[in-house]
Amino acid sequence: PEAGESRLLAGLNPQQRAAVVHGGGPLLVIAGAGSGKTRVLTHRIAHLVETGRAQPGEILAITFTNKAAKEMRERLSALLGPVANRMWISTFHSACVRILRAEHEALAMRSTFTIYDSADSLRLMNQVCREEAIDSRVSTPKGLLRRISDLKNELIDPEDFARSINDEADVTVAAAYRGYQNRLRAANALDFDDIIMTTVGLLQSHPAILEHYQRRFRHILVDEYQDTNHAQYVLIRELTGRGESMGELTVVGDADQSIYAFRGATIRNIESFEDDYPNAESILLEQNYRSTQNILSAANAVIANNPNRRAKRLWTDSGAGDKVVGYVADSEHDEARFLVEELQALSGKRRWSDIAVFYRTNAQSRALEEMLIRAGIPYKVIGGTRFYERKEIKDALAYLQVVANPDDTVAMRRIFNTPRRGLGAKAEDAVAFHAQRHGMSFGAALDDVGSAESPRGQVNGLTPRAEKAIIDFRTILHVAREKAESGSAPADVLDSLMAGSGYTEELRRSDDPQDEARVENLAELHAVAADFKKMNPDATLGDFLEHVALVSDTDQLPDGDVADEGDVTLMTVHTAKGLEFPVVFVTGFEDGTFPHMRSLADPVELAEERRLAYVALTRARENLYITRASVRSQWGAPQELPASRFLDEIPEGLVDWRRAHSSADVLRRSSSTRYSKPSFDGARTGGSVKPGRLDSGSGRLDGGSAKKAAAEALSPEDREKLAAAEAAKA
Ligand code: ATP
Ligand code: MG
Repeated sequence: PEAGESRLLAGLNPQQRAAVVHGGGPLLVIAGAGSGKTRVLTHRIAHLVETGRAQPGEILAITFTNKAAKEMRERLSALLGPVANRMWISTFHSACVRILRAEHEALAMRSTFTIYDSADSLRLMNQVCREEAIDSRVSTPKGLLRRISDLKNELIDPEDFARSINDEADVTVAAAYRGYQNRLRAANALDFDDIIMTTVGLLQSHPAILEHYQRRFRHILVDEYQDTNHAQYVLIRELTGRGESMGELTVVGDADQSIYAFRGATIRNIESFEDDYPNAESILLEQNYRSTQNILSAANAVIANNPNRRAKRLWTDSGAGDKVVGYVADSEHDEARFLVEELQALSGKRRWSDIAVFYRTNAQSRALEEMLIRAGIPYKVIGGTRFYERKEIKDALAYLQVVANPDDTVAMRRIFNTPRRGLGAKAEDAVAFHAQRHGMSFGAALDDVGSAESPRGQVNGLTPRAEKAIIDFRTILHVAREKAESGSAPADVLDSLMAGSGYTEELRRSDDPQDEARVENLAELHAVAADFKKMNPDATLGDFLEHVALVSDTDQLPDGDVADEGDVTLMTVHTAKGLEFPVVFVTGFEDGTFPHMRSLADPVELAEERRLAYVALTRARENLYITRASVRSQWGAPQELPASRFLDEIPEGLVDWRRAHSSADVLRRSSSTRYSKPSFDGARTGGSVKPGRLDSGSGRLDGGSAKKAAAEALSPEDREKLAAAEAAKA
C-alpha cells in the first residue's frame, strides 16, 4: 500500500495533498477553475481505498453529469483496478433512482416507475390544465411547471404549499401542483425534481432505511457543490448523518462557477458549509493547472467585476501562452465563417476532438452547424434538440415505456393513435372517461374494451371499428410485454413494437425525405439498445429506459458521447461545466446574447451570466477564441447587438483582435445616419424592435435605417464595396 499511496500523492501540491489525506471531520475544498478540485476528489477516493480506510462499497461520489461520473470511474479503475466498480459514482439523479428502485415498496410504488422528462411533464401539465379548467393563457403550463419545479427543489409538497398560500394566483398554482402530482402518481411516474424530493422524503420518513444508507455510505464526496439546490443539500445532510456515527463528507466547489440558480442552486450551500458542519475544515487551492496565464488573466478580469465575491488569487506557472484571439463578425453567418476558417487553419495541428465551440443558447448552434456541414468538418452537438427529443425517438420510447409500465398514461396516450389507426379524440375520450369513472389508468382501461368478463363492464361510446383497432393495439403491446418479461433484449422488444404497430412501415412508405431520416434514427435507437445490452448483459427493459431517461435530460451529457475521436464538440456553456479542451471558441459575446437578454436589467442574473462567462473562458487550456456578431437573428429578425460587456472587461493587452469592428460600425462612422440601439424592453415583450427589424422577403425596413437593411441583405463582399463607396462619398 505504501508505494500505492505515494503514487497517489506524487505530483500534488501541498494543499491538494492535505485534502487527499484529510481524515475525520467534514472537508470543504474551495478553489477557482482548473485548480484540481475534481482531481483531488478522485485521488482522495483512491487514497481512502488504498490505505484501507474505506471499502469501495462505502463510497458515494456525486458528480454533476453522467459524463463526469464516467470519467471519474475510468480514472479510478486506472488507479485501483476493478474494485472501482463497487463504488457508487453517479449524478444526484442516478444515485436517487437507484435508491428509489431498491426501496420502492416503502413508497408504495412499483419498481418499474417511469421518469418523465420535461416534454413528458409538459404534456401532463397540459392535460391538468384542460381537466382542471385552468386558464392556460393566464397561467401557462410552462410557467406552472417552473413554479412546481422551484417548490420541489425547496422540498415543498402540494399540501405544504396549499397551506402557505396567500395570494389569488397561488391558488391556481396549488391546484395545478396537486393535480399534476396526483396524475404522476397514478401513472407510476416521477418527474426529474421528484427524484430528489421523493428520496429525501423516503429517508426522512423511514428511519430504518435512512440508517441503512448512513451505515453503507461512510464516505460521501460531492463535486461542483456550488450547484447543489436545497433538496440536494438536505439529501447529503441526511445521508451523512450526525453525531457519533456521522460519515465523512468531502465537498469541493467554486462559488464563481455557480450557474444553476435557475434550477434552484444556491451558493449559500457552499458559503455556509462551515456553519452547517461546525467541525469542518476548509482548504483553498490556488494554483491553476489547466490554462495559460493569458487565458487565466482574461477569465479573472471578467469575474472580478462581480460584487460580493471572495477574491481569489489564482495563478499558473504554465507561461503566458498565446493571446486570446478576438473577432467581430457582421452576422452570425460571418461568425460561423470565421470559425470554419480558423478550424481549417488548425487542422493538422490539432485533432478535431481537441476543439470545442460554446454558445449561450442552443438556438445559436444552427448557423454554426450549417457552416461546418458545408466545410465538411465533423462535429457533434451536445444538448439541444437532440436525438432523444426527436419525435420518432420519443414515440418509440413511449411504446417501450407502456410495455414496461402499462399505467404510464402520458406515454399510452401519445401512441394511442400513432401511427394512425383510426382512433380519434372521441375514442380517446371514451377510454379516458371509463378510466376516470373506475379510478384506473388509461392503459388499464384499454383492457376492458370489448371484454365481456370485465366486472366494470364494457367501455361505452366506442364504434365497432374503434373497438377492433384498440384490441389490435392491445395485442401488439401484450406480445411485446411477454417478450420483455421472458427476458428478450430491449432491442428485440423495440423491433417487435415498431414492426407490429406498422410504425416503421408508415415511415418507409412516406415520400417525405424527413421520414427517411426518421427511419435511420430508429435504427440508431435499436443500436443504442443493443449496445446497452452488450455492456449490461443482465439488463432489463426497465434498466434501458432508466438509462435513456437519465441521459436524455437536456442538461446532462450522454454517456461517452462527448469527445469521441475526431469530432469538434459544440455545446452550451452550461453543459461545458467541469470539462476542458486544448482549444475553445466562445461565440456570441453580445449584450443580449451573452449576457442573456433577460439578465440585462437584473444585477443578480447578470452576476450569474458573468459566472457563466467565467466557466466558458476557463475551459480552455492553450488557445481561446472569443467572437461576437454585430447583427444576429433573434425572434426571427436581425437585431443589432452591442458588444458584450464581458468583452469590455477583458484587458485589451490580452486580446489579439483579428477584426475589431464590424462593417456596420464602419458604415455607421462614414455616414450621417444615426443608428439607435434596439430597445431591449421592446424585444423582451415581443414588440417591434427598430431599426434592426427587417421586413423579410422584400428586404424593406419597417423603421428608420434602409442603409443598414441593405447592408444586411448584401453578401459580405458587396457590403465591403458599399462601405468603401460610402467612405469615398464622405
Ligand atoms: P473545474 O473548476 O473546471 O471543475 P477543477 O478544479 O476540478 O476544475 P481539475 O479538472 O481537477 O480542476 O484539474 C484541471 C486540470 O489540471 C486537469 O487536467 C488536471 O489533470 C490538472 N491538474 C490538477 N492538479 C494537478 C497537479 N498537481 N499536477 C498536474 N496537473 C494537475
Ligand atoms: Mg472539476
